[in-house]
Amino acid sequence: MNYHGSCHCGRVAFDVEGELGKVMECNCSHCSRKGYLLWFVPRERFALATPEQELATYTFNKHVIRHRFCPHCGCATFAFGTGPDGAAMAAVNVRCLEGVDLAALERVPVDGRSF
Ligand SMILES: [Zn+2]
Repeated sequence: MNYHGSCHCGRVAFDVEGELGKVMECNCSHCSRKGYLLWFVPRERFALATPEQELATYTFNKHVIRHRFCPHCGCATFAFGTGPDGAAMAAVNVRCLEGVDLAALERVPVDGRSF
């Protein structure tokens, strides 16, 4: 299934291919502030429709995850990183996807605050 995602103002747009199942809800200082509900997909299943230089980037801690957001409306749409096996991954904030029933998703709590 293809999911279309965007920021609030629409400057950032992307598509994700896959079956949306469980999402990660992390309690770390960053995720809890932004309210991220994250879906991890291989990078090649994520297609950015916006020129990448138009997005802003936030990194923290070890700076290995590049959190991308819209510099105009501020929506935290997705992040790029690397999985444990070295594969390029995208972490999509499913709150920014169209047609997703957030209440129906299984949320997996992650205790990122303790990492
Ligand atoms: Zn925006």
